[in-house]
Amino acid sequence: MTLRCTVCGEEYADRWRCACGGPLDYADPPRPDGPAPDFRDVDTRRGLWAFDGFLPMDAHATLGEGFTPLVDAPAWDAAFKLEYVFPTGSFKDRGATTVVSRAVDLGVDRILEDSSGNAGAAVATYAARAGIDADIYVPASAKQSKLQAIERTGATPVRVEGSRADVTDACVRAVESDEGWYASHAWNPAFFAGTATFAYEVAAQRDWSVPDAVVTPLGHGTLFLGAYRGFRALRDAGWTDRLPRLLGAQAAGYAPIAAELHGEEGGRNDVADGIRIRDPVRMSGVLDAVEASDGDAIALSADAVERERDALHRRGFYVEPTSAVAPAALRAYRERGVLDADDDVVVPLTGSGLKT
Ligand SMILES: [Zn+2]
Repeated sequence: MTLRCTVCGEEYADRWRCACGGPLDYADPPRPDGPAPDFRDVDTRRGLWAFDGFLPMDAHATLGEGFTPLVDAPAWDAAFKLEYVFPTGSFKDRGATTVVSRAVDLGVDRILEDSSGNAGAAVATYAARAGIDADIYVPASAKQSKLQAIERTGATPVRVEGSRADVTDACVRAVESDEGWYASHAWNPAFFAGTATFAYEVAAQRDWSVPDAVVTPLGHGTLFLGAYRGFRALRDAGWTDRLPRLLGAQAAGYAPIAAELHGEEGGRNDVADGIRIRDPVRMSGVLDAVEASDGDAIALSADAVERERDALHRRGFYVEPTSAVAPAALRAYRERGVLDADDDVVVPLTGSGLKT
């Protein structure tokens, strides 16, 4: 499974990024043969590994993750996919199971990741499952509940003072000095191969019909780009006939994609702690996905997110604040006329309230 640079086209057997600095992707990701299976023939007992025809790894470091519920949310006139129903309580398990499986394929004995919380807990958990050591670089200000989820697996949390970018820099220095293999949710293409399974499940649960739009939180684009790639892979395989519009939801003050599309806006939203990313690794890939899917990105205020979180809790969706960004964006997209009232929309709820 060759990796190819998204910037210069250089190819590698394995490396965390290109010599030119560009992020790598699979040069030739697998696609299943034949038509889309009838849903009754999809073995949901295998979780997201039911779609292994799309997955470029042999090992399965699995905890049975995937096939999260897709439920009606009448108060939002949308369907919510309950991505907080995962072993570690966030959609990051989609990428953790695949990136750790890739590490097993490569015979790696220590993995490194940097995270504000959910990705670190997910990677630590799947590393524990696979018997691989993990060092997880976290901001010194990370929530205790999330640190505990990392520590209890036996992984080593490495606390770094400073900004979120300082945490990444410290982790990258360790990767560069060969302390471990970088299982990054921003850089590693194996992680995105996993988050693409979101699209396979949505399409399968809807008998291979694609929604008009999907609204997702957008920081590094771990889910946004994964969903785009998954829907594109389904279309390439002939299992579906179109892409949904990919609509991103960013936090005000941490909204480089929205700023690129619409100009800078004021305000600062520190409530959505999972997506406070000012310099996403795959910025040009996200902009390509917006362009190719007739998508968009907007920034949400802290007030809008807190209001939406409260509304979600009162309807039985016990999510963390970052998860409320996408339903808040759904409301804003309708108010701005980007979405019509009768558009068929799926919104992932990405992280559990139980860890906050
Ligand atoms: Zn390159």
